[in-house]
Amino acid sequence: MGSIKRKLERKKSADKKKEAENKLSSRLMMFDKLPDKCLACEENFDKKSKEMVQSWQVMVKGENVRLFCPNCWQKAKDVVNEYQGGGEPNGESSERN
Ligand SMILES: [Zn+2]
Repeated sequence: MGSIKRKLERKKSADKKKEAENKLSSRLMMFDKLPDKCLACEENFDKKSKEMVQSWQVMVKGENVRLFCPNCWQKAKDVVNEYQGGGEPNGESSERN
């Protein structure tokens, strides 16, 4: 009694782990394609800097990966906001504090 249930639960958590691994590897693949500088101002991007990875904006369109430093991203957002009268560009960015 109970052993089958335990087995099922173990399988469930294994599936979850696999899912997480898949997500991680696709993320790493994207990182592999990541440019090493800002598309607009060509400021160098350090993939090893956690701060930069978190503050820089990555836009993925099919095979193309575009990278913007926070300054250029802000400028791009301002332009789009002016043009559209508010809203996020393409809805691809997430709000940061
Ligand atoms: Zn830039």
